[in-house]
Amino acid sequence: WHDRLLGGFRKTSDRLIGNLAGLSAARLDDSTLDEIEEALIASDLGPQTAARIRTRLADGAYERNMEELGIRLVVSEEIEKVLEKVAQPLEIDAFPRPQVILVIGVNGSGKTTTIAKLAKTLVDQDYGVMLCAGDTFRAAAIGQLQTWADRVGVPLVRGSEGGDAAGIVFEAVKQATATGIDVLIVDTAGRLQNKRELMDELAKIRRVLGRLNPESPHDVVLVLDATTGQNALSQIEVFKEVAGVTGLVMTKLDGTARGGVLVAAAEKYRLPIHAIGVGEQADDLRPFDANEVARIIS
Ligand code: GDP
Repeated sequence: WHDRLLGGFRKTSDRLIGNLAGLSAARLDDSTLDEIEEALIASDLGPQTAARIRTRLADGAYERNMEELGIRLVVSEEIEKVLEKVAQPLEIDAFPRPQVILVIGVNGSGKTTTIAKLAKTLVDQDYGVMLCAGDTFRAAAIGQLQTWADRVGVPLVRGSEGGDAAGIVFEAVKQATATGIDVLIVDTAGRLQNKRELMDELAKIRRVLGRLNPESPHDVVLVLDATTGQNALSQIEVFKEVAGVTGLVMTKLDGTARGGVLVAAAEKYRLPIHAIGVGEQADDLRPFDANEVARIIS
């Protein structure tokens, strides 16, 4: 699947390589270093990573005559160092079952699609999976999740539009427990417009889950849309506050040149990155592999 991952990062890779083009490090004076640092920031890698790469180049860690390719090598190595600390697949290890995965994120981030992809990945590994439509605000969201549940072949517990989300989640855990389900994936509302309401709703879901099992939810996965670039970082900030976040999935990397934001997010928040979305189909979720990504970006 390397080619497809490469496809997923093609635009990001082109942008980064394009931004560094012509910047030869044969003579690393201050203005060249400034230009390199700016090129890295313009590629969404974030100020911290950009500054570290600059320092490393300036320190002369690479004394040999470093042409453009040499810079790319250093960039790639630094990206890998940042990413390998956070690359962490979602472990299915809850006992007793079910493991409850709360999926959060703003509407349009790719939350529903990611839930479907995650379900497909787990079904392929022989886990019993159930979905729960915890976003009761949008009827379309419930319908869309039903379509995906049917397509992937997993049961969905759903209520009616405008129903009590925590009540549906409670019902889903009961059904999942009774039927020996391994993993319950819960969709949640993503209306950031009303932060207070969203916070209350997520808190209520967490309370209900915690009463059934103090370890639950076992995972709170934030879905981020890579095409929003640095905006994704402020979403991490908000959702950390409203819901607590245990890990990230970044979507739509196939359609954007802004995939560098993965590095900025990793550097700034150190949250585990579980997987990445590189397309709209159920099998377009890729494990997140720091080395693969770093090599592709270089
Ligand atoms: P939600 O509102 O957060 O549940 O978002 P959806 O799951 O409905 O996704 C919004 C749109 O983004 C849909 O058209 C999806 O097909 C699309 N989408 C989701 N993930 C990806 C991805 O990884 N790559 C691409 N190209 N499109 C995606």
